Amino acid sequence: MTKYKTIKHKTTYRHIVLVLGDQLNLDSSAFTGFSPQEDLILMIEAPGESKHVPSTKMRTALFLSAMRHFAQAISDQSWPLEYLKLGTHRFQKLADALGDALSRYRPQRVIVVEPGEYRLEKEIKKVCADHGISLDIRDDLYFMISKHDFQHWVGNRTSLLMEMFYRKMRLDYQILVSDKKPIGGLWNYDKENRGNFGRHGPNNVPELISFKPDALTCEVLDDVEKYFGNHYGNTKNFNWPVTRVQALQALDHFIKYRLPQFGESQDAMWDNEPFLYHSLLSSPLNLKLLNPREVIAKAVNAWEHKKVPLAAAEGFIRQIIGWREFMRGVYWWRMPKLLKNNFLNASEKLPNWYWTGKTSMNCMKAVITQTLKYGYAHHIQRLMITGQFAMTFGVAPAEIHAWYLSVYVDAVEWVELPNTVGMSQFADGHAFSTKPYAASGAYVNRMSNYCRHCRYQPTSRQGENACPVTVMYWDFLARHENQFKNSSRTQLMMKNLQKMSNEEIKAIHIQARKMRQNADDL
Ligand code: FAD
Ligand code: SF4
Repeated sequence: MTKYKTIKHKTTYRHIVLVLGDQLNLDSSAFTGFSPQEDLILMIEAPGESKHVPSTKMRTALFLSAMRHFAQAISDQSWPLEYLKLGTHRFQKLADALGDALSRYRPQRVIVVEPGEYRLEKEIKKVCADHGISLDIRDDLYFMISKHDFQHWVGNRTSLLMEMFYRKMRLDYQILVSDKKPIGGLWNYDKENRGNFGRHGPNNVPELISFKPDALTCEVLDDVEKYFGNHYGNTKNFNWPVTRVQALQALDHFIKYRLPQFGESQDAMWDNEPFLYHSLLSSPLNLKLLNPREVIAKAVNAWEHKKVPLAAAEGFIRQIIGWREFMRGVYWWRMPKLLKNNFLNASEKLPNWYWTGKTSMNCMKAVITQTLKYGYAHHIQRLMITGQFAMTFGVAPAEIHAWYLSVYVDAVEWVELPNTVGMSQFADGHAFSTKPYAASGAYVNRMSNYCRHCRYQPTSRQGENACPVTVMYWDFLARHENQFKNSSRTQLMMKNLQKMSNEEIKAIHIQARKMRQNADDL
């Protein structure tokens, strides 16, 4: 069993520096002013963090493995550390374990970097207040815009556009910018990034870099089976970077082998090709094993040295300084109401097969199966397959939010919730999403080969072979006609709906109702 060089010889400490499971950087602001003679670092493996939503085995394993490796890095510095491992303490909740440490050590102050979850921040504040101990919450320097500066940018706006934010970030950081203008003439090459793979599929998809589980990770995989054996998924294919060194290797590998083709087919999907040309960098970024600034610098450098086209570099950089930073700002701007909002009044239960992949809908089966196997699906698979079906089916936002937060290795609420509830479910209305991302089976058929191996027909709306994606799409548009008919972003979809006769729409409603009643058999 792994032992850290835990230096725990004092009965009291000046400061307790609490390091959370997604704050694994040695240059964290939490360590500014850290005194190894007077202060103690505290890390806690709290089972409750894997249970408040039913975190899959892969997700839990990645967090625990990265935490234990980080603990190793801390003890290599000979910094005092108390690491509360699963099974060695009695607490379910992180806040209770923290409270116990506060009673034992009576520090003057607790220092923590701003948590990535509203709930956790509230709990930490409460436990410190209950113990009468001051709390110093520090900025997370692994984001490129602070919460405060984002709020300042929001100002009096009541709805936000990512594109405007993205341009501001490009200008602020002078990324691919010359004379206040975008290099190449366009801010955004998104239109070049929407291709599919044609009939024959992707060519020469590069192999992933391999990160075989080391002894520490193997110990974690055993613990996950022991403590979370009844959770969904498995860890057989664990291949995620868990240290800073591995994260840098993953970054270099992506820049060299996948970034050149990143843009072209960013939205395309293919059976048994779960990763395609994507970076798989969200989890090391979210764990803070990578700093977004160094990720951007490498992408810019690759373009400057003519190793990647401008559209690929721009498309990738937009995801990081645009979408990623935007979503984080939005989360803190909209919380806590973002958790409760339900613009479309959706109330259905999530079909059971979201947790198993056992469905005849091949698109859903492919995406859910790879999700449970690797803890990964790329953006369009999340948005336009699992997300859009849940929205058109009418699943309650809280149900689908719990699913996304449980199944992806990169899931932390600050990024998962706005993507799920705001972007994929349109549950926050127009606050930061211009339209609902809804599509019929024809879209899935165009962007993937899923429909070729499916028992349903993508264009069919009625009968035995009616495609549930298509049926739900038309049913959704008809149910929400009043909400969408006047918006310029949805007018085209609504025009197609208006071409249908009342009889056709009625038949679709009947078909959709039947499908909802038998959701688990789809
Ligand atoms: P790439 O395709 O290689 O993109 C590069 C990087 O850009 C990503 O690593 C990520 O850091 C960033 N990025 C891209 N799109 C987004 C976005 N919309 N929001 C924030 N960052 C983005 N991302 C998470 O990190 N955690 C989540 O829990 C999460 N949940 C999502 C839920 C839904 C319903 C949707 C639609 C998207 C979600 N995303 C989430 C965003 C996105 O799907 C993932 O970041 C991306 O698929 C991760 O794979 P990748 O690293 O290969 O990304
Ligand atoms: Fe999905 Fe419909 Fe295509 Fe089947 S036919 S893969 S259910 S879109």
